[in-house]
Amino acid sequence: MRQASYWEQATTPQAAPESLPTSVDVLVVGAGFMGSWLAYFLHRRNPALRVLVLERDGIGYGASSRNAGFLTTGQITEMLEDSRECGFDTVVSVLARRRAGLALVRKEFPGLPVHTCGSTDFDPITDEKRAFAARVNATLGETTFVERQVNLGGTMRPGFCQAADAGVHPLRLLELIRASAGDGFAFAVNVDRIGAGTAHCTTGTVHSQIRYRRAFVCTNGFAAALEPASPVQPGRGQVIVTSRVSTPTDNTLGYLNAGYDYFRFVDGRLLLGGGRNRFRAEEATQEIATTANLLAHLRQTATTILGHERFTVDYHWAGIMGFVGGKHLGGSPRRRMDGTTEAVAGFGGMGVALAPVLALEIAQEF
Ligand SMILES: Cc1cc2nc3c(=O)[nH]c(=O)nc-3n(C[C@H](O)[C@H](O)[C@H](O)COP(=O)(O)OP(=O)(O)OC[C@H]3O[C@@H](n4cnc5c(N)ncnc54)[C@H](O)[C@@H]3O)c2cc1C
Repeated sequence: MRQASYWEQATTPQAAPESLPTSVDVLVVGAGFMGSWLAYFLHRRNPALRVLVLERDGIGYGASSRNAGFLTTGQITEMLEDSRECGFDTVVSVLARRRAGLALVRKEFPGLPVHTCGSTDFDPITDEKRAFAARVNATLGETTFVERQVNLGGTMRPGFCQAADAGVHPLRLLELIRASAGDGFAFAVNVDRIGAGTAHCTTGTVHSQIRYRRAFVCTNGFAAALEPASPVQPGRGQVIVTSRVSTPTDNTLGYLNAGYDYFRFVDGRLLLGGGRNRFRAEEATQEIATTANLLAHLRQTATTILGHERFTVDYHWAGIMGFVGGKHLGGSPRRRMDGTTEAVAGFGGMGVALAPVLALEIAQEF
């Protein structure tokens, strides 16, 4: 059964097209942030280009309409862990890309409502983290991470904060992108096979073929279906939204447990996601479905964050992330499938900021 996220409450399903073109200049598969930003920048660069985005469901029904809406550059605990695996320079260059993405979203859509609440890493601070944060700040040439006293559930503790981070309504952002990306979007169209200049699609019971000059397969956690030997592995994320609550906790984008748990406040409610690390085998799936195990974990974590149990869980949904090599920083999401077809999938838990940067880079090749 189709499962609506908190963001999708007031939306109606997008209708299937009456017909599809037989050929286009650029075919994009998947109308999440990646596919939508790509259509947007291609249209901006050359409005005469015939761009068609094919989406099997509604806009972003994988991760983009179902995420937490953190417009973020990340947090110290996770970066320190990443640096042990990938090195300091890689971590800082990814951070710089995310910063470029944040700036791009704000520049392209200055009217987009954003909650400029900053972010806080609530994990315990160690001397190693302090030294790491100081090194990141020095490398960037500005104070990005600041240590200050923060409140979590009524207890004061030190946390690392980033003032530039903000919260967005991800679906509102997606719809803004789509509204400025030309009219080449078709929903309820599944791409069954793609390659060598032809996409084979199904709409309802109707099969069709579309020829293309270039194609980009932006199907994220579902990449394996169209990209043979795809390195992208799915990772499900589950999110809850509580009833309206009062709490002494700082009104910020919050990170706990090295970023595996994340929260923010939306419309006076707590939005909380995470727990994937506790149920790795169960959550390594493409199935958009919620589970009782994860719900119990999120309920318990919500109690810690709020400092009380006076809430109900009013919404619970799942989305599917894509991880290159199954890892958080597993490598580039861009891979060539053949001379005219590329896969652009696998942003892990950071696609809101990263997708526009890569989409702009690709569009500049046209
Ligand atoms: C629970 C959760 C919370 C997250 N929180 C954040 C956050 O706060 N901040 C952040 O930066 N990132 C977050 N992320 C990650 C972020 O949402 C993703 O990185 C980003 O949305 C990926 O965009 P995408 O376009 O690559 O993929 P998607 O949004 O998954 O889009 C892929 C699209 O392809 C379509 N598709 C798949 N197969 C086919 C096919 N065969 N034919 C046609 N269409 C097809 C799907 O229906 C889908 O709409 C979160 C992810 C999840 C799941």
